[in-house]
Amino acid sequence: MAEEKSKVDMEKIVSLCKRRGFIFPSSEIYGGLGSSWDYGPLGTELKRNIKDAWWRAVVQERDDVVGLDASIIMHPQAWIASGHVESFSDPLVECKSCHLRQRATDLVGNVCPECGGVLTEPRQFNLMFKTFMGPVEDDASVVYLRPETAQGIFVNFDNILATSRKKLPFGIAQIGKSFRNEITTGNFIFRTREFEQMELEFFVKPGTDEEWFNYWVKERFNWYFNLGIKPDNLHLRQHCDEELAHYARGCYDIEYLFPMGWAELEGIANRGDFDLAQHAKHSGRNLTYFDEESGERYVPYVIEPSAGVDRSLLAFLIDAYDEDVADGETRVVLRFHRELAPIKVAVLPLSRNEKLAPLARDVVAELRRHFVTQYDDAQSIGRRYRRQDEIGTPYCATIDFKSLEDNQVTIRDRDSLGQIRVPVKELVRTLQAKLSGEAFDAQPLWATRTSGAVEQ
Ligand code: ATP
Repeated sequence: MAEEKSKVDMEKIVSLCKRRGFIFPSSEIYGGLGSSWDYGPLGTELKRNIKDAWWRAVVQERDDVVGLDASIIMHPQAWIASGHVESFSDPLVECKSCHLRQRATDLVGNVCPECGGVLTEPRQFNLMFKTFMGPVEDDASVVYLRPETAQGIFVNFDNILATSRKKLPFGIAQIGKSFRNEITTGNFIFRTREFEQMELEFFVKPGTDEEWFNYWVKERFNWYFNLGIKPDNLHLRQHCDEELAHYARGCYDIEYLFPMGWAELEGIANRGDFDLAQHAKHSGRNLTYFDEESGERYVPYVIEPSAGVDRSLLAFLIDAYDEDVADGETRVVLRFHRELAPIKVAVLPLSRNEKLAPLARDVVAELRRHFVTQYDDAQSIGRRYRRQDEIGTPYCATIDFKSLEDNQVTIRDRDSLGQIRVPVKELVRTLQAKLSGEAFDAQPLWATRTSGAVEQ
C-alpha cells in the first residue's frame, strides 16, 4: 500500500506563509538560520489564537486546572533528576571523510549517504542546549535551556498545592518555549530547535490514572476536531511496549496527516509517579499528597498531554488550505475556524471615493473595539476579497454608495460567498453572533440577503 500523504503541497504552504506574512525564514537578510523561523503579523495572531484556544479549554473553562509560567533556565539538578542529562540523547554516526553527522536510526546503508565514506560507531549526542550562567565559564556555571516545559511544573508542584488549595485530581498547565538541539530538523516548522509547547500535568490518585488517561486522550483529540481539523486527517496511535519510556504506563500520539505523511502533533502519556518521585529523591523535599478523604499519603500519578504550538499551527494551516473557483476565478482560501482566523473582519469601502471614506472609517473604528479588523481600500473589490480569502478572514464588511443612503453594509461570508445586508448599528452584534458559530444563513430580523455583487 502506498504511504498516505496529505494532498496539500508543503511548498505551497511555505510560499503562502512568506507571501502573506505568516512566517519568514529567521534572519533572512543574513541568509537565514537553518530551521529557525519568525512569525510575521498574521502568523503571530494565528499563534496567539491557538494558544488562547488551548488555554481556554485546558485552564479557564475548568475548575481543576491552574496555570504556571516558569523560567526557561532551571537549576541544573532538575535535569539530572528528570533523566535528561543522562539519557536525552540520540545515537549519532559521523562520516570519517566529510564529517556529516546523522541519526544512526535514519541511515539506510552503512556508508555515508553524502559521499560514500566510512562511518564511526554510533555515539550518544545530548539534545539539550548548554549555556553558562554568570560571568565565569566553568563547569559550575553550566545551565541548560529547557527541552520541555513539564519540569518547571513538577518542581512547582508543592508551591502550587500549598497556595492554590487544590485537591486531587487537579492539573497545572503551561505554555512556553522549549529548545532541543535536534539532529534532523525540517519540514518547515514541524521540527525546529526552538519551539513552543503547551503542556498539562494532571495529578491523580494512583488507581484512578487509567480512567483519567482515557479522559484526556479523548479531550485532547476532540480539541483539534472542534477547531476544524478534518476527521480524515487525524488519528490516534497507541505506543507499543517497546516504544514506551521505562516509567510510562501508557502513551498515545495524536497524529496528523502532513504532506510528508502521518506524524505526531501531541503525545498523551500516563507517567505514573516517576517525575515527582525523582524530584523528591534529588531535592530531598517531600512531594507527597495527603488525601484527607482516605487518610492516606502518597505520590500522585500524572497524566501528561503535551502539544506543540508550531506543529499545531502547521496542521491548522495545511488543513485550512483550499483552492476553488469564486466569481469565475480560481482562488486560494484558508478556511480557518473562526476562532483561529488571524483577522476576523475586513472593512472594504467599494472604492477610494472620498464620499465613502467617513462612513468606512467610522465602521472600522467601531469594529476594532471588538475584533481584530483590517481596513483595505486599495485595488479592485474583487482583488481585495481574494486577498482576505487567502489569509482566511471569515467576514468582509463592504461599504457602497447605497450605504450612504440606507446606513447598511454588506457582510460577505468567506466560505459560502453568501452576502447579507445589515444596518451599521447591528453590525457588531451580527458579527459577534456569526463569530460565535451562528450559521451565516440564519437571518436576524434586520438582515436581508443580497444577491450577487454589492451595489456599484
Ligand atoms: P518527535 O518524536 O516528533 O521528536 P517527541 O515525541 O520527542 O516528538 P515530545 O517530547 O512528546 O515530542 O514533545 C511534545 C510535543 O512537542 C510534540 O508532540 C511536538 O508537538 C512538540 N515538539 C517536540 N519536539 C519538537 C521540535 N523539535 N520542533 C517542534 N515541535 C516539537
